[in-house]
This record gives sequence, structure tokens and C-alpha cells, in this order.
Amino acid sequence: MAIKLHDSLSRETRELRPAQPDGIFRFYNCGPTVYAAAHIGNFRTFVVNDLLRRLLELELGADKVKHVRNLTDVDDKTIRRSREEGRPLAEVTCQWTEKFHADCKALNCLPPHEEPRAADPKYIREQVNMIEVLMEKGNAYRAADGSVYFKVSSYPDYGALSRVKERELQVGSALKAHAADADEKEDVSDFALWKAHKPEDGDVKWPGPRGTGEGRPGWHIECSAMSKAILGPTIDLHTGGVDLLFPHHENEIAQSQCCNGTTFSRHWYHSEHLLVDGKKMSKSLGNLYTLDDLKAKGFSPAALRYTLLSGHPRKQLNFTLDSLHAAESALKTLRAFRSQLTPAGTDDPFAPIFASLQDDLNTAGALGALFTIVNRGTASISVAAFERVLFALGLDLTESTAPKTDIPADIAALAEKRWAAKQARDFAAADALRKDLAAAGWSMLDRKDGYELKPVASSG
Ligand code: AMP
Ligand code: ZN
Repeated sequence: MAIKLHDSLSRETRELRPAQPDGIFRFYNCGPTVYAAAHIGNFRTFVVNDLLRRLLELELGADKVKHVRNLTDVDDKTIRRSREEGRPLAEVTCQWTEKFHADCKALNCLPPHEEPRAADPKYIREQVNMIEVLMEKGNAYRAADGSVYFKVSSYPDYGALSRVKERELQVGSALKAHAADADEKEDVSDFALWKAHKPEDGDVKWPGPRGTGEGRPGWHIECSAMSKAILGPTIDLHTGGVDLLFPHHENEIAQSQCCNGTTFSRHWYHSEHLLVDGKKMSKSLGNLYTLDDLKAKGFSPAALRYTLLSGHPRKQLNFTLDSLHAAESALKTLRAFRSQLTPAGTDDPFAPIFASLQDDLNTAGALGALFTIVNRGTASISVAAFERVLFALGLDLTESTAPKTDIPADIAALAEKRWAAKQARDFAAADALRKDLAAAGWSMLDRKDGYELKPVASSG
């Protein structure tokens, strides 16, 4: 049975199949911007994409899937961070790339087969080549300052993915919101392919397309060029979080299809966002978590992965620390279940799990089906069949992934209450709760974006 997945462009749920005669499925997933630690919302998107990768491998064979995920290592955010810290851009992006790799590994995400960097000179050349073709074909023009813009009016199908034209009529000017450098453009909806060098870019610059000067690529062209260079002009699937649908993916389609004269991606998939305590994550609300924040609270990466998979990927998922507690106990149940299986077992009751996953990644249905089986409990189940389920979901049940300090639920609840009191600036309540925690043998260390709980070392 083939995997069926919602396609954001046709708005239909369609089977995923490789188009090319070599049978290789070409899959491009927009990667992280490496200027800080990725947050757990970013990891929802990467874990969902990892699930997709695993299901494709099970379906087509591991050697028939080519998964590319880029690193955005040159853009406004990375350059600003390098300037603020007075460090070379490459030093900053290397640091956060390493951190991203470590977190992905902890979350048991398979590494992509290729991970191109936008600032790699090889891919800068590919980006410049694409821009030159677009200029020759009349889809792009040079502005007075040496920047190059894509001419949206030259591509009549612009807006097919996001229906931005319809939306613009409805809500005023959606396009204007993205017109950061409107003064140089012929039309407010045009977007930058090449950004002429500015003093604040420092030494971040490369020779530009013919007839322009030094500068750096715009964000959108990065993915179009890296995807083409590695996977060819037409790919089978392109994915990202829902915020990338417009303008990023709309612009990628316009650039790639005008340059290559062919369909860019046969299927588009966007997963929904993670909310924390019902709200969009933000530093100012104090609800932005990284994997390290959760580890400091004693949770395991496996529990985060389980939580991120617990809701349907095309629906917003509300993350709470309670959901992580529930995930730890679900993992404990799965460990106990596995320990009951014997090599003599031959039953494979897991087909309903795969049926759910293949039906537009219905992870909630799959986990429900898994626990129906686990609660029935039978030792005659095949170990290999259960391992196949664990592989598909990417759940690592080894004890080393279990939390190191087992924080009792009542202590975790006290800590949460105290943190909430502190956020609400009710310092008297916060101090009283800190004393309660200390009396129970726990110390709570406040940090900028969260806290750490530690058992107080007993004297003697
Ligand atoms: P970025 O590093 O900002 O380029 O984002 C990396 C990926 O995370 C993109 O696919 C985004 O769409 C996705 N993303 C950003 N915020 C969230 C969120 N709150 N929930 C889920 N995915 C997100
Ligand atoms: Zn991208």
C-alpha cells in the first residue's frame, strides 16, 4: 500500500510515488536557519519529516529514497547574529549546525543523504547561474543598487500554492507585508534574488550575476538552486512548516519553474505549528523551549519525540509539560511490553498502525492502535514486527534515553506552579513555593528562559 499524503498545491490527498524510471524518490525538506538552537516547534517539523522519510524507506527500500535537507547559513538572521557577536559568519553557523546535529541525533532523526549549505561556494555558483538564466529569460531585473529582483508579473501562475492573490483581495495587501525593500523594486510584490552588498553585511559577499556587483543571495533562491543541483529540476516531494508556504515556497516555485521550464515539485507538504501552553512560542512569553531546556527539567529526548508525534501533523499541536510526563509513562509501558516479547513470537498484529501512518500521517490514530495492541498484551507477538513499528515511529526505547533524574510528578507540578507565579510577578507565592520544593529536597535554579530542577545533595 502506498503512502497517501495531503498535497498543499492540489489540496488533494495523493499517493507518493517516484516519477523517474530509476525508482528513486526525490525528497527535499527546507532545513533550519543556523543562528541559534532550534526550538521544539522546529523539531516538530523535522520529526514529522523524519517519520515521512522512514515510511518511504519501509515502502520503497532504503536505497530508493534520496532525502535532502539544507542549512540556511546565510540570510538576514545569521548575518545579524554574527555582527552582534563580532564573530565571523561561518563560526556562528558552524556552532549552531553542530548543535542542530546533536539535537537531531538525540531525537533519533535519520541524517539526510545530503545537507547542502547555502553559503558553500559550490552552491553560491548554482544560485548565481539560476539568477542569470532568470535575467536572460526576462523573469528578473537588476535594480539601481545592483540587487536583482524576480518579476512576479512575468509568471502568471504566481499564487497557485498560497492563493495569495485571492487572499490579498480579501485581507488588503498580504504582499505588502513582505515588501521589506520596496524602494528598489518595480513592483511591491517582486522579491530579491540577489542582494547588493551593504556595509552591515561586512565581509559576507560573493561576485554576483553578470552585470551586477558583489552581494549575497536572497533566501528563496537558495532552496531552488540546491534542490536542482542535487535532485534535478523536478522532484517528487518538497516539505516544510506551514509558515514556509508563503512567501518562501510560492517564490521557490516561481523561480524554479521559470528557470527550468518544468514542474518543480510534484507534491507539496506542510505540517502545522506547535503551540506551547496554547500560545505561539516566543522568548518574551517565556514559553520558548529548546531540547536542552527540557533535558534540564529531567525529560528524555525520546519523550519529546513521542509528544511531537502525538497529534495529527496537519493540525496545530499544543505542547504542555503534562504531555511530556504522559509521554515518559507511555515509553515506560512500551519498554515493559517489549521485555515480555520472546524470540518464539510470530504474530504481527501491527497492520492498523501502518494503515494509519500511510493515511496522511495519522500519527494520533497510529499511537491509539499501538496502545490497543499493547494493552491486550500477548507474548506471542514477533519481536521483529514490533521493532518495525519502533523504526517507523523512530522510538528509541533503550534505557539510556530514559530521564536521568526521575522527577516525581508532584515536584514537577510544584515547580511549574512556581514558574507560573514568577512569570506573573507574584514573587511572594514564588518564594513560598521555592521553600516547599526545598523542604521536599529539590532546588530550583532559574535561568533566562526556564528553570532547572536538581535534587539537593544530602549531607553525610
Ligand atoms: P527556520 O529555522 O526558522 O527556518 O525553521 C525551520 C523549520 O521549522 C521550518 O520548516 C519552519 O516552518 C518550522 N517551524 C518554525 N516554527 C515552528 C513551530 N512553532 N512549529 C512547527 N514548526 C515550526
Ligand atoms: Zn527552503
